[in-house]
Amino acid sequence: MSDQRSSLPNAKDKTLFTPGPLTTSYAVKQAMLHDLGSRDSAFIEIVRDIRQRLVALAMASEQTHTAVLMQGSGTFGIEAVISSTVPRDGKLLVLVNGAYGRRIVQIAQVLGIDTAVLSYAENQTPDPNDVETLLQQDPAITNVAVVHCETTTGILNPVEAIGAAVHRHGRTYFVDAMSSFGAVPLDVNRAHIDYVVSSANKCIEGVPGFSFIIARREALLATRGWARSLSLDLLAQYEGLEANGQFRFTPPTHALLAFHQALRELAAEGGVEGRAARYRHNHLTLVAGMRALGFQEYLDPVDQGYIITSFYYPDHPNFDFGRFYDLLNSHGFVIYPGKVSDAACFRIGHIGRIFEADVRGLLAAVRQVLAEMQVDLVQTSASVA
Ligand SMILES: *Cc1c(COP(=O)(O)O)cnc(C)c1O
Repeated sequence: MSDQRSSLPNAKDKTLFTPGPLTTSYAVKQAMLHDLGSRDSAFIEIVRDIRQRLVALAMASEQTHTAVLMQGSGTFGIEAVISSTVPRDGKLLVLVNGAYGRRIVQIAQVLGIDTAVLSYAENQTPDPNDVETLLQQDPAITNVAVVHCETTTGILNPVEAIGAAVHRHGRTYFVDAMSSFGAVPLDVNRAHIDYVVSSANKCIEGVPGFSFIIARREALLATRGWARSLSLDLLAQYEGLEANGQFRFTPPTHALLAFHQALRELAAEGGVEGRAARYRHNHLTLVAGMRALGFQEYLDPVDQGYIITSFYYPDHPNFDFGRFYDLLNSHGFVIYPGKVSDAACFRIGHIGRIFEADVRGLLAAVRQVLAEMQVDLVQTSASVA
């Protein structure tokens, strides 16, 4: 039937080596082939099961913690936390070593929230001792925020050691674990995290449409009257979900069905540990292959996570990132298009429904594209041309 015809070519989708949206499984896409009413009991049961599974993924109990689902992309979840959980006269300390830390500062500034910033180079992790010192010096600071995996570079920040400092000083702790949750183990109790945010379309391998906040109930219940937004009011969203299992406003029903399937696939893969093993293997395969082609990573391996890897632009007159990106795209591989980092780097994500064979396919395409661009990085006698 003509009205059913897709505007996309009937070919295999490109493989996404980005930080999201990501390549998803067929079953995740198939789970969306239903129109469910938002007050349907089957839908309410799915939402309940999703919330329960998310709390378990954070290694917490539903007695002390809760998962709040929030419509919109990941940034909406961050904005929900910042706008709802900083007291009206509070002050937010943000630890910044990349674009996503800077975005938290920007959100707070738009909201008119007083901020303090500890800034680091993009290849350096924040120092928990600096946090300790600043919290001692500035009693006005009520909340502290940090990004777990800074997707700008792929650096993994020490959220547990920072959490210990925040906890010693009795402040509220928020972690943006957007690009790590579900694949990098995170124990919210051990890290003393009050609020952690991630979204449907990163390591859990669902489709875009909502974010989720895992909150310590006691902290959340103490925030009444602080929200600076109606639609992003975290406490009100929580109370709606608790009262009747429903969202206050139209829920992303199809994205939630996909996410439920994605959570089952995560469990079938062996949970966070199983997913971590696949992503780590993807990362190591990529790095070994890229090094063999003459590329060099930006980060020190001790700080490097297995979510996304930054590589320096090669030092060769024929290398042009725009062209490199476009040619890889025409080979069916999408790497991260934007340059967010301060350094002359590009990034390749290795999360989503991708496996070693996909990484090897990408590496073969990189080799071909370098040849097409006449970029010879591996010094051979023929390269002097
Ligand atoms: C992807 C990402 C975000 C933003 O998510 P959107 O879904 O694009 O709004 C925020 N923080 C980190 C660390 C991310 O990786």
